[in-house]
Amino acid sequence: MSLQFSMPTKDELKEDRIHDIIVIGSGPAGYAAALYAARAELNPLILTGHEIGGQVATTWEVDNYPAFPDGITGPELVERMQQHAVKFGAKMEMDSVTAVDFKQRPFTLVGYNGTYTARSIIIATGASPRKLGVAGEKELTGRGVSYCATCDGWFFKDKEVAVIGGGDSALEEALYLTKHASKVIIVHRRDELRAGPAMQQRARENEKIEFIWDSVVESIEGQDSLEYVKLKNVKTNELSDLSVDGVFILIGHLPNTSIFEGQIDIDDHGYIKHDGEMLTNVEGIWVAGEAGDPTFRQVITSAGMGAAAAIAAQRWLDAQT
Ligand code: NAP
Repeated sequence: MSLQFSMPTKDELKEDRIHDIIVIGSGPAGYAAALYAARAELNPLILTGHEIGGQVATTWEVDNYPAFPDGITGPELVERMQQHAVKFGAKMEMDSVTAVDFKQRPFTLVGYNGTYTARSIIIATGASPRKLGVAGEKELTGRGVSYCATCDGWFFKDKEVAVIGGGDSALEEALYLTKHASKVIIVHRRDELRAGPAMQQRARENEKIEFIWDSVVESIEGQDSLEYVKLKNVKTNELSDLSVDGVFILIGHLPNTSIFEGQIDIDDHGYIKHDGEMLTNVEGIWVAGEAGDPTFRQVITSAGMGAAAAIAAQRWLDAQT
């Protein structure tokens, strides 16, 4: 992805500068929020986080974003969103927020590069892949264990890989992996997939894809690199070893909200609570995208939430003056 940044000037980053609006996160929600805020002449600053573009930047193809009937790659879609926001004046700072103070206004954000102050904030920090939490997973990550087929699929040319999970992400990534791997074995803990019917049909019709049903991962084994995955059939309790060169864990996501704990209301699953109009329990702070969306989690819904949050923030800022 070729990124076209519009960096803030020194003055714009001066620690005593109070920004009208800071957007935390650079996925579809963040870019849409920044675009709307920029067009409202609020000079938004985007603190990008370390994964610029968010999850969609690692998605092979997006087939369900309106206006792209032939599909578009994730990196291209998010690059266009970024260019659009920058064109209207959004500024981007490559920094990750490590701590916040939402107890008093203006709000304070602490990053690796400095401290930022803002009258209003839109949280668009997204979500990250959920881990299995089994032995060997952490040790072998990057050595056969991956959470992103688009990023790592290339390493498994003509090899056999397993995909763990039965949702849309697992099947979409399994389909992508068939471009590289000789065989893709989907391991699912039930005998019924969670993915939508269209995705299911594509996966079932693909000759390179096989399914292992009713099975969970007990451990991931290997000395220096992945050797096999130990599986347990949940109906028979039978254990088996599945020899594969790679295992892709695609079992959902967790919202990136831990830095906001104690500062803002968060539900039991880690999602930031909002009032349906993106406003959090803290006046002046909105949430957009997967950090506050346990239900829809689509590129289009995240972008829509970003636009809504920015409109709400603009109205609130207008009412303050
Ligand atoms: P998801 O829908 O929550 O599916 C997670 C899958 O992982 C489920 O099959 C679940 O099993 C399984 N799982 C969860 N924890 C597990 C564990 N500890 N061990 C084994 N398996 C486990 O997550 P997702 O697939 O990432 O999708 C998230 C959202 O994004 C969904 O709304 C989806 O429709 C959407 N999405 C859409 C597209 C698209 O339209 N192209 C692509 C990707 C994602 P159970 O089924 O038994 O719960």
